Amino acid sequence: MVDKQYVYFFGEGTRDMKKLLGGKGANLSEMTNIGLPVPPGFTITTETCILFNELGKKYPDGLEEQIDGNLKKLEDKMGMRFNDKENPLLVSVRSGAAVSMPGMMDTVLNLGLNDETVMTLIQKSGNERFGWDSYRRFIQMFGDVVMGVAHEKFEHAIHAKKTEKNAKVDTDLTANDLKELVDDYKKIIKDEKGTSFPQDPKTQLKMAIDAVFDSWNNKRAITYRNLNGIPHDLGTGVNVQTMVFGNMGNHSGTGVAFSRSPSTGENKEYGEYLINAQGEDVVAGTRTPQSISKLKDEMPAIYNQLMDIFKKLEIHYKDMQDMEFTFQEGRLFMLQTRTGKRTAAAALQVAVDMVNEGLIDKKTAVMRVEPAQIDQLLHKQLDKKAQGMAQLIAKGLPASPGGAVGMVVFHADDAVEEAKKGKKVILVRTETSPEDIEGMATAQGILTARGGMTSHAAVVARGMGKSCVAGCEEIRVFERKEYFTAKDIKVNKGDWITLDGSTGQVYLGQIPVVDAELSGNFGIFMKWVDEFRKLGVRANADTPKDSEVALKFGAAGIGLCRTEHMFFEASRIKAVRKMIVARNEKDRRDALMTLLPFQKQDFIEIFEVMQGLPVTIRLLDPPLHEFLPTDDSDIEELAKELGLEFDELKNTINSLHEINPMMGHRGCRLPITYPEILEMQTRAIIEASIELTKKGIIVKPEIMIPVVGIANEVKLLKGQIVEISDELIKKNNVKLEYKVGTMIEVPRACLIADEIAAEAEFFSFGTNDLTQLTFGFSRDDSGKFLPEYINKGILEKDPFATLDREGVGELVKLAVQRGRKTRSNLKIGICGEHGGDPASVEFCHIIGMDYVSCSPFRVPIARLAAAQAALRN
Ligand code: ADP
Ligand code: MG
Ligand code: MG
Repeated sequence: MVDKQYVYFFGEGTRDMKKLLGGKGANLSEMTNIGLPVPPGFTITTETCILFNELGKKYPDGLEEQIDGNLKKLEDKMGMRFNDKENPLLVSVRSGAAVSMPGMMDTVLNLGLNDETVMTLIQKSGNERFGWDSYRRFIQMFGDVVMGVAHEKFEHAIHAKKTEKNAKVDTDLTANDLKELVDDYKKIIKDEKGTSFPQDPKTQLKMAIDAVFDSWNNKRAITYRNLNGIPHDLGTGVNVQTMVFGNMGNHSGTGVAFSRSPSTGENKEYGEYLINAQGEDVVAGTRTPQSISKLKDEMPAIYNQLMDIFKKLEIHYKDMQDMEFTFQEGRLFMLQTRTGKRTAAAALQVAVDMVNEGLIDKKTAVMRVEPAQIDQLLHKQLDKKAQGMAQLIAKGLPASPGGAVGMVVFHADDAVEEAKKGKKVILVRTETSPEDIEGMATAQGILTARGGMTSHAAVVARGMGKSCVAGCEEIRVFERKEYFTAKDIKVNKGDWITLDGSTGQVYLGQIPVVDAELSGNFGIFMKWVDEFRKLGVRANADTPKDSEVALKFGAAGIGLCRTEHMFFEASRIKAVRKMIVARNEKDRRDALMTLLPFQKQDFIEIFEVMQGLPVTIRLLDPPLHEFLPTDDSDIEELAKELGLEFDELKNTINSLHEINPMMGHRGCRLPITYPEILEMQTRAIIEASIELTKKGIIVKPEIMIPVVGIANEVKLLKGQIVEISDELIKKNNVKLEYKVGTMIEVPRACLIADEIAAEAEFFSFGTNDLTQLTFGFSRDDSGKFLPEYINKGILEKDPFATLDREGVGELVKLAVQRGRKTRSNLKIGICGEHGGDPASVEFCHIIGMDYVSCSPFRVPIARLAAAQAALRN
């Protein structure tokens, strides 16, 4: 039987073998294959690592022979040998998994040095200092990462040596000082481990390889994998590679570079190098590296060769590369290449440029930009440098992206007041409620101590495209006393804070923000995106202003217009309250009639903005008590306005209190008890439509009934809507088409979707409520336990953020099938928060919905996610 291949010489693998060889190994092979100058070496596979650990840290049969064979091959190729008197081979041992993973073993350089080979190295290079410096670096790295001696011990020794010799920096130490240091280091190892530093290169190599295998299961690596959802059975490869020396003098050096700018995407090399340096010196920050453009003057031959290689690698990999290189006495070597990480702006620029250069096609370009990156482009961002130095005081949920700076206020009214004075404020509250809408709209950002990713604050802030950190359990808010605390820090009204809604971080003081700027690339790129997607993308918008934003971001209509938000405006809330506390139908009707013109005007404005695109309007949904005051003083004031006794009003308000309002008197249950609410809203919608139709403006209203679970609910309410609408249309003698449909957000509605579809002309899945009711998780309270569910691995993701395909998704699928069985042309969409989440959008594509609807600022994200879903499935 032929042994399994555990070891691949550079050149035997290809870039497609990342899983087996690790990213570093696969690309070292690939670069070798395309003729780039890569110091020869070999890769031990990731499978070997797993086997080694499974076998209780033993080599599988044949591995030792394969390592020996490849080492011999390397020695022959280089004309160098381990321990050779004239040409001693030195190697690096480098770990490398399939995915880039900090936590694995650090690289060991200069392996093969010992008391004898160091003398040869000195003799050959004619550089005594270089020899001893390489040797002491090797013992230090080997002692630390292979033998497990605390690195402080070595640092302490070098520090002591510097003090003793009056040396300011490492480079002030002479050859002789370094030679003495080698002895000190050896003694440290002996004292700490009871064994000597191994002199035999083969023993050194075996120990280093084993240490790499071991490091796969060190604590750091396991934690990192857990945090990033990386499987534990991938294993790491081990690369053994001939050393090249950037520290051989002034014609040697080492550097890292990107083939294009990872910051802007500009097609210009970007990177740094250091003369007379080795390995990590460039990133270690002991000396300040030079910009790569300087190399052009200093070493033009090397520079030109490097530029040719950058170009060659880009054409080969068809993507921007992040590379490591070293030059030894004027000879260039490539040590690593990989796909370069980049900012959102750079991702867009590179994608568009590469299509224009003919390097990639549009499909590839569309797949290359992460939907989440688009988010970065649409919102203000904190200045990264300043952010790094600012004082972080708490961390909450990244509820709505973007940076915000302002002075703290604790009441929505204050936010409005201060904003009028031209001040920038951040509204800080334990949690927000619908009453706070205006204050939220005028604040720069919102910070709440309680509530999850779909809490009121989070949903409203996202809708407004406003920065929000929610559920920040580390702070305590004292609204009445007007301060909040974060651990032992007290923040008063008027103090400045900064929020990073993209990460959930809260800082004391002001961090500069950079405006979002949409480049021409954005438009070009989004046009390509639209060529591939099948799903329509609409927006959830309640105001003409939101509708404008939605349109600007490419929404194909409004998928959810929530009418209750229109009720909270100062000019209307009085009439709303009057309507709610009315004792009889007549009073209620009177109050509603004062609301009608307002509501009608709202719709006229939204329809005008939307220019003939469909607008789905949801009838009043929330429990009525949400509109009523809770403070006695406010009740007193309202009682006066309405000409009621305080006690009387207070009783009415109390009687409206519900134990479980989200499952109470809300949604379609409101018009079933109070038909006049539906009547007013239908009239407002249809009269607005008629008025515009008469002016020659096309209007496509879609009236949506929320929270249905019973077919008869729809039958009854639809009947009323149609009767009112048709009469108005007939009376005005216009041609107007409208639709009546339902939200699907109660599990029962999914099960009887076939019956509902007999009445409803469209379905829109309200997946927030559907998730809440399917799991039986209260959305507003889930912040208390859901994080623990994620920590303990009970749930992989927050189901309110990413649609749960197994449970909620099955219900949705069922409803789509049953609904379409009754009505084949049933229009189906989703308007929950999930409509802007890329993984959920993919699900909607797969099950064949017509559209997704999300907050205006997420429209571009949903468009991209929809295109990627179509290309992937
Ligand atoms: P990391 O994954 O942390 O980047 P690497 O294995 O890439 O670790 O190596 C760390 C540093 O050592 C890099 O700067 C790399 O270029 C350098 N290096 C690795 N192997 C060699 C070698 N054979 N000759 C010279 N420098 C090397
Ligand atoms: Mg590297
Ligand atoms: Mg709902």
